[in-house]
Amino acid sequence: MSLKSTYIGRFAPTPTGPLHQGSLVAALASYLDAHHHQGTWLLRMEDLDPPREDKAAREFIPQQLLAHGLKWHGQMASQSDHSARYESVLTQLKDDQLLFPCTCSRKMLTHHSGRHLGNCHSFNQPPSNNQLKTPHAWRLPILDKTYAFTDEVYGDCGHNLLTVGDQVLKRKDGLYAYQLAVVVDDHFSGINRVVRGLDLLDNTPRQLYLMDCLNYSPPHYMHLPLVINEDGQKLSKQNKAPALDLSSSEQNLLRALASLNQPMPPIELSTSNHAILKWAIHHWRPSNIPTSRAGIL
Ligand code: GLU
Repeated sequence: MSLKSTYIGRFAPTPTGPLHQGSLVAALASYLDAHHHQGTWLLRMEDLDPPREDKAAREFIPQQLLAHGLKWHGQMASQSDHSARYESVLTQLKDDQLLFPCTCSRKMLTHHSGRHLGNCHSFNQPPSNNQLKTPHAWRLPILDKTYAFTDEVYGDCGHNLLTVGDQVLKRKDGLYAYQLAVVVDDHFSGINRVVRGLDLLDNTPRQLYLMDCLNYSPPHYMHLPLVINEDGQKLSKQNKAPALDLSSSEQNLLRALASLNQPMPPIELSTSNHAILKWAIHHWRPSNIPTSRAGIL
């Protein structure tokens, strides 16, 4: 496949807070990789979980991207608009007898370190009405099978699915799981290249398995080391990493390029986002990205 003509990538933030410097590294790398291959770069808001969301961040994230010159192609997509799409995929999986309703509580799974390993399901008979009347999640049973893939940065990756257990695709509270939404949306948008943080690398084998169940082609993956602060803590919305300061967008971009160990633009180009991005697209070197699992500054 020639990546040049067909590349479709995306940035897919969860609006639990505004973007911070760590999110900028992921956004910038996926933008540069897409543009370096003359590809398409899409934006998808992963607003699946209203109780965890910050409404203001949902509005603010696109503005933060634009303030850094990171303009996406077409309209931003929002997962909250895709319920019908997810439901129809779930119906297809249920019709293929690939899912089972599960009423197990977290507490019941503690002795398997939180994993669900066939505890309650049987495909010998369809779910009873009683089972379906009790609040239940829908799970995809996993196999004793290793899913491996070659990551652009981290090389050979993968693990046996038994290490993660049967996957929830729709939660007991009726919300769709990230694993389902990401696989279905990437497929519907024709995404063939996923560039995202290392924290999601371990999710990839179970996503590949779901793609197999649905007959979807897998994308190519590039996971990125996570940005840490001076104390060695990962920057995250949970640990209150500061929002990007929009008055220093050029500096933020240069810092993100340095974190990714990319060639730095000459000083005279460093005062305009547009000039920095244009230069960085041309000089994009994925092979320079550090493979540190401890994080990058
Ligand atoms: N929504 C996820 C996040 O903000 C990214 C999902 C993905 O790229 O697959 O971390």
